[in-house]
Amino acid sequence: MNEMVLIVEDELPMRRFLRTALSANGFRVLEAGSIREAEPLVTGTPPAAILLDLGLPDGDGMELLRRLRERSKTPIIVLSARDREDDKVLALDAGADDYLTKPFGASELLARIRVALRHARGHGAAEDPVVAVGPIRIDHSRHEVSVDANIVHLTPIEFRLLAFLARHAGKVLTHRQLLHEVWGPQNAHHGEYLRVHMSALRRKIETDPARPRWLTTEAGVGYRLRDV
Ligand code: CA
Repeated sequence: MNEMVLIVEDELPMRRFLRTALSANGFRVLEAGSIREAEPLVTGTPPAAILLDLGLPDGDGMELLRRLRERSKTPIIVLSARDREDDKVLALDAGADDYLTKPFGASELLARIRVALRHARGHGAAEDPVVAVGPIRIDHSRHEVSVDANIVHLTPIEFRLLAFLARHAGKVLTHRQLLHEVWGPQNAHHGEYLRVHMSALRRKIETDPARPRWLTTEAGVGYRLRDV
């Protein structure tokens, strides 16, 4: 059976665009224009993924996001307006899987949904000892990283940073999430650690570290290891 995606969006043209793109690509679609309409659609069997607008007529999509996260791991992709940069970080830290900044194209939308669904399916699976993302290969049992089959020597911090990004390949991770995971909760405010080690990691991984192809910056939000 085709996977069901719930669209929570009050702007009709945007909803039409999402519905068209999703149905044309084999998804079934449920629609809600407000928090109140969305509530009954997320109880019982949850949809495979949720596209969630933050500015809804009867409240902030963030409230719905927090409530959903308390009871389910359904992938949630937040749809945000360009001028609400801080909302993205809040949404991701609150458990959103990704965000799309309006306007976006159908191919970007579908790519993000596929990544989110893939992660959701892999949830709880045993950690694969070898993870490959593009030309990057991470061997957890040997603690070894190679790029295009050439061994790259990473420091323990760089290894943890890359491994965490690779575990969530395709998904944006906030500065806070990365700091928390790699340096621990007591260092979650040390953004400079992250910048320094990310730039070192790029020098080792990227062909052109000034124009990274894999370890990309999400301005004002965090970093993403691209997987396509
Ligand atoms: Ca809206």
